[in-house]
Order: sequence, then C-alpha cells, then structure tokens
Amino acid sequence: MKRTVSIPVDLPHERFLPLMGFCAEIFNAHADWAKENRTFNKNKAHKALYADLREKYPQVPSALLQTVRDSAMEAIKATRFKRIPRKKSTSGLRYDKRTMTLRGNQLTLSCIGKRVQLILNVPDYFKDVFESWEFCGATVTYTKRKKQFWVRLVFETEDQPRQEGEVVGVDRGLYHLMVTSDAQFFSSNRVRAAQRRYLHNRRTLQQKGTRSAKRRVKAMSGREKRFMRNENHCITKKLANTPGVAIFVLEDLSGIRVKQRGKKLNKWLSSWTLYQQDLFLTYKAEALGKRVVYDDPRYTSQKCNVCKHISRTNCNKSRFHCRNCGNKDHADLNAAKNHRDDYILSTTLLKTVEQVPVNAPYASGANAS
Ligand SMILES: [Zn+2]
Repeated sequence: MKRTVSIPVDLPHERFLPLMGFCAEIFNAHADWAKENRTFNKNKAHKALYADLREKYPQVPSALLQTVRDSAMEAIKATRFKRIPRKKSTSGLRYDKRTMTLRGNQLTLSCIGKRVQLILNVPDYFKDVFESWEFCGATVTYTKRKKQFWVRLVFETEDQPRQEGEVVGVDRGLYHLMVTSDAQFFSSNRVRAAQRRYLHNRRTLQQKGTRSAKRRVKAMSGREKRFMRNENHCITKKLANTPGVAIFVLEDLSGIRVKQRGKKLNKWLSSWTLYQQDLFLTYKAEALGKRVVYDDPRYTSQKCNVCKHISRTNCNKSRFHCRNCGNKDHADLNAAKNHRDDYILSTTLLKTVEQVPVNAPYASGANAS
C-alpha cells in the first residue's frame, strides 16, 4: 500500500529552475535516442549518451542524470513507442535514494552545486506516515502561477490484513452524491447549493468582463475544486468506516459516460470528482483492510432488483417502479442494490467455473490427454 504526501517547500529558484530545464532537455534527448534506436534498454542508453550529456551539462549531478535516464526509459517502455514522451522545462523532477535522503523531517536534495537541505513542515495527520512507513522516493514539482515548489514524497507500508464482512453496492445519482445498497444516503444538497452559488457568481463576473473579474473567476475555480475535494474526503471517509462492510462495489467509470444528472450538475460534477471519489475511497478502504471493486454499469439503473426485468420506463427521476412486478424503490437505492448483486453473482459464478474441473473433470467435454 502506497501513500503520497505533498508538501510546499521553499527551494532556491535560481538553482532549481535551471536544473529542471536541463533535466527536461536530458530527458528529451533520451526519448529521441530511444525512438531512433527502438530500444528502452538503460545500459545501451547509458553507453550511447552518458559521456556526451555529462560534458554538455556539467552542472547536473551525475546521479541525477542517471535518474532522468531511468525515468525516460521507463516512460518509453510504458508507451511502447506509441507516443514519445516529452518533458517541459518546468516538469517535475524525480528523486530516488541516490539523489535524496530523508531523516525525520529533514530532507536533502541533489541540485546544481551543493546539496540543498530543508526542514519539512509536516502536517499532524501525516506524522504517522512519516514515522512508521517506508520512504521510497519523491518528485519535486513547480507551479508556475504561484511560483511555488512542492515535494511529493511516496511512502509504502505492508498491506493491512484483509477484513471479512459484507458487500455493499454504491451508486452515484442526481439527488445524492452516493447511495449505498444498505440505504445510506449521502445528499448532494450542499454541493448543489454551492454549485448554484458558484455558477451565479461566475456568470455575473463574466458579464462584467474586466481584467480583475477574470482574475476573480480563476481564483473561484480553485476554491470550487477545494470545496469539492473536501466534500469527497468527508463522504468517502464516512463510507469507508461503515462497520461490518469489507467490499465496496462501484460502477466502472472508464466504460461509460456519467449518467444523466441534469445538465448543470453534470457540468460541474464532471468525471474528475467521481474519479477523485474512487481514489479517496480506495486508499481509505485499503488502510482498513477493506476493498473497492468495480462492476459493469450498463442497465443498473433500468434493471429491477427484485425480478431483474430491464426497461427504460422503470425509472422516473428518483422513483423506481417496475413495470413487470410492481416493485417500488428509490431509483438510486435500486441501482446500488444491483451493483451489489451483480458483483456477488459474478464471484459465485467464477467459483462454480473453477470448481468444475475439480469435481467433474470431464464435465466440460474436454479430453485430458
Ligand atoms: Zn420487478
């Protein structure tokens, strides 16, 4: 289990910004070489490029040059030459054990000239991670607009022993951020009210159209994001801590576009907030030895949970009324139950398939020879 901790830091701009620029050039040189020679072998890249680059960029510490080489080759390997990765002059810098050390909250970083020493201001809620988790590496990034450096430290710890417990389906609908199959409703009233407020303010400012109005719109978008991030932290924390539950079944967002949520809400509650919910819930659940799994979201809102009849007319806004068996339920709750049952069904099916060769080796008709 991994956790990333981001902390803003003061680094000497006159040394780090040129370093980031040089490292981007070194990265791109490696990427070009890899493209030309159709290889992502680190040793070959080292032999071909190291001496020349060392001469061209004498200020860059050699260990850092090697880290850049490794990350370039890994990036090429990940894309399999389909796309050649490029770095910009302010792209993040990766550090590993060769180029940085962390003792307590004292961080030492390789840089142009002497190493830079920093005392990190670690927030209370990350103290535990700093003290008991294993440190694996870090990235230094730079936000241009605020002229601020950040370190993202990656820590690792052993996975929690897996908990036994119930399966709960989670659906995300129009009137609720989340509804669980055991009938926990996380209302979206607060979010919708905030959304209306932000939208109204944005419209008014945009109509003004002055330069300061544009600046305000930009600042507001940041506030909106932080508001939503906080909401997501709160609900996923509450959900992850539900006693007796070990598995959360969410809809797989990668396959489909977000369901009908009403135009306005859809615009704001765009995919990133949902992915953020997935991300937050996953790491909070993992820390407790629980799991998040995904199911196919097709028809989950149109299918009756009682008789499994599928019809588009079953669902009317937040009301679900089955045309076949007359089952009435809250639409999101019905969908959440479907998530839960689909997952349970898929795992029991999988178990029966696995058991076939054990109990009846010739049942499938395949010959053992
Ligand atoms: Zn039905």
